[in-house]
Amino acid sequence: GFSRRGIRGNFIPPIRSNGNNMGNITKSIAGKGEDALDDSTKRCLELLCGADGELPEKLRNLEPRLIEHISNEIMDQDPNVRWDDIAGLEHAKKCVTEMVIWPLLRPDIFKGCRSPGRGLLLFGPPGTGKTMIGKAIAGEAKATFFYISASSLTSKWIGEGEKLVRALFGVASCRQPAVIFVDEIDSLLSQRKSEGEHESSRRMKTQFLIEMEGFDGGNEQVLLIGATNRPQELDEAARRRLTKRLYIPLPTSDARAWIIKNLLEKDGLFDLSLEDIDAICKLTDGYSGSDMKNLVKDASMGPLREALRQGIEITNLKKDDMRPVTLQDFENALHEVRASVSLNELGIYEEWNKQFGSLS
Ligand code: ADP
Repeated sequence: GFSRRGIRGNFIPPIRSNGNNMGNITKSIAGKGEDALDDSTKRCLELLCGADGELPEKLRNLEPRLIEHISNEIMDQDPNVRWDDIAGLEHAKKCVTEMVIWPLLRPDIFKGCRSPGRGLLLFGPPGTGKTMIGKAIAGEAKATFFYISASSLTSKWIGEGEKLVRALFGVASCRQPAVIFVDEIDSLLSQRKSEGEHESSRRMKTQFLIEMEGFDGGNEQVLLIGATNRPQELDEAARRRLTKRLYIPLPTSDARAWIIKNLLEKDGLFDLSLEDIDAICKLTDGYSGSDMKNLVKDASMGPLREALRQGIEITNLKKDDMRPVTLQDFENALHEVRASVSLNELGIYEEWNKQFGSLS
């Protein structure tokens, strides 16, 4: 996953706001006078109003502060990730393009027999690019991106999860085309009846399944993407709604090479030979994409540490005082940054993929 801060979008809403429709909004919210809402909530609701200045039907019975939370914390107009930022995963990219991006771009063609599934599951070890794919889909399909971590739903929103889920799907449907990305979806749709499972979390799960059922058949342009490192915890009802299930494996050697080169080049630190890269790739078998990122981070500290060891003050340090990043830096970093996924875990993903994955 990625940090919650990172997705706080400073988006510029495309919807016209005439600044003078407060009357309608407050009329829409039954039983709540305008005074009950603070300015930020009002503004947020205003932006969701249609051309007629009315709040869409679906949002009228939802609590304004939940709508505001969804709009401010969860919605992102431009997640800023493109296909080209993602190393490898050619198969997943191809499936997703056909299954998701084309239908979002051309709903007129993708109907009837061609109507797309509305639920996609990305499963595999942590740190392999599942969240990146979700963001890239939203970017490539010019859709609004909603990111929510299911574990925050179950912990932070105890007792209110059900309402928040309704608000999420409600706002998404007013922001079509939209992609709802649910990280750690297993914790929401898990088959395990945990000992003290709260009544409220059971209701939230039910609400979630109902909302997902709701967009089948309809003309909604809302796609749900679930990501998980524990696909085996999903029950049959969850699997049925997530019609496409793509395995997102660890990066290949080529993909690891690409990540190294790409990250170092971005900062103008790249000066490794093909042989060096080859050696690093051999030493990083089993590393995930995010392990590779951490490795590059650590290796890139090498030249800095060396310059400081030679007595240069950090305050006086110039860029030219530092040599480029070398194979030796990577070899040192390998002691600090180890692979985070075990072979044993990989076996579980591969088994599940054989049984339930979309292999096409
Ligand atoms: P996941 O959702 O699978 O746990 P993320 O998509 O959040 O993993 O990836 C975490 C970070 O690791 C990304 O921000 C990126 O820097 C790096 N990363 C992971 N996989 C890839 C990849 N395939 N290509 C490029 N970078 C990757």
